[in-house]
Amino acid sequence: MDMATRLIHTGATVESVQGALSVPLYHASTYAQPSVESFGRWDYARSGNPTRHALEEAIAGLEGGSVCCAFGSGMAATSSTLLIFKPGDHLIVCDDVYGGTFRVLTRLFSQWGLTITFVDATDPANIAAAIRPETKGLFLETPSNPLLKIIDLRAAAILARERGLLTIVDNTFMTPYFQRPLELGCDIVIHSGTKFLNGHSDVVCGFAVTADPALGERLRFVQNAFGAILGPNDSWLTLRGLRTLKVRMEESQKGAATIAGWLAEHPRVRQVWYPGLPGHPGHQVHLSQSSGPGAVLSFELDSFELTKTVLEGVRLMAFAVSLGGVESILSYPAKMSHAAMPPQERALRGISDSLLRLSVGLESPDDLIAELDRLMKS
Ligand SMILES: *Cc1c(COP(=O)(O)O)cnc(C)c1O
Repeated sequence: MDMATRLIHTGATVESVQGALSVPLYHASTYAQPSVESFGRWDYARSGNPTRHALEEAIAGLEGGSVCCAFGSGMAATSSTLLIFKPGDHLIVCDDVYGGTFRVLTRLFSQWGLTITFVDATDPANIAAAIRPETKGLFLETPSNPLLKIIDLRAAAILARERGLLTIVDNTFMTPYFQRPLELGCDIVIHSGTKFLNGHSDVVCGFAVTADPALGERLRFVQNAFGAILGPNDSWLTLRGLRTLKVRMEESQKGAATIAGWLAEHPRVRQVWYPGLPGHPGHQVHLSQSSGPGAVLSFELDSFELTKTVLEGVRLMAFAVSLGGVESILSYPAKMSHAAMPPQERALRGISDSLLRLSVGLESPDDLIAELDRLMKS
């Protein structure tokens, strides 16, 4: 079935008792049990909730997975997934990984005994060279944040399978609408559902999805044991947001392509990073593993003064952290997503003080361009 249809019909879409076309919102924390011998389908809401379950089923189906666990944030999904590893295990992580992932790895999991090597994973040879006897997994993000570097997921997954490693991919920027890492051979997909999946800047949530039922059991065990679950109300809102993913992704992507093209021609723009531009270093690899370049782009202006003028002058775009909402969001990676990264690390990764990241929403691209044009003339 086409993704457009799957978005509307995956998971429980008709409630079985009353026939409601919207999944009911179950607030109950516990459920009465019919007998001592056999408990009902639901017992305690940390372990399972029907509203959360409907959302988990929908996302598992869209990613081509068998199990999805919903968490209270993208970082809860990442951290809970990392708990399947043990002290002494080694992970290979792409070098411009999301700032919060960098922080939890280097400040908490390292203290707990996980060892980490950051590599430029755009070349699979760098991943291969970093593998040690105690390496247990790869943690990748493509396109990465904020420089939209592209990692060849098929090549990484083949390498990982040969060496018995798990491949974990943060698929937040693409969503299953554009990219499905499990179908490319990867083992676990992570999402910050706060971004495009929910899409309306009104929920913080996260997901971990896998195709392998045994690995799914391990994730489900952590979800229940560690307890960083998504609440029913946020599950319901996210399920509603998810149903319009296709129209939002398609429209935002069109806008992003138009704006990226305009920025690339602008005299005050040093560089534009967008996987849809033919000059982007990962353009071909990206197109081979996803069906679109997405709605996020980054660009570097020619001075810090202009960067400040643009950030403080925008009215249509919000100057804010986050991305993936119906409204366009302009972010400043050096002080926002990557504030947790020491300045020298940031500089090494090419995240300069004149770099901006734009998540294109559903406004008319002409109006967004007019706003940038006005500010960039000043
Ligand atoms: C936002 C984000 C996260 C973290 O998700 P939260 O929902 O904010 O906890 C992880 N990865 C990427 C790529 C993100 O953009």
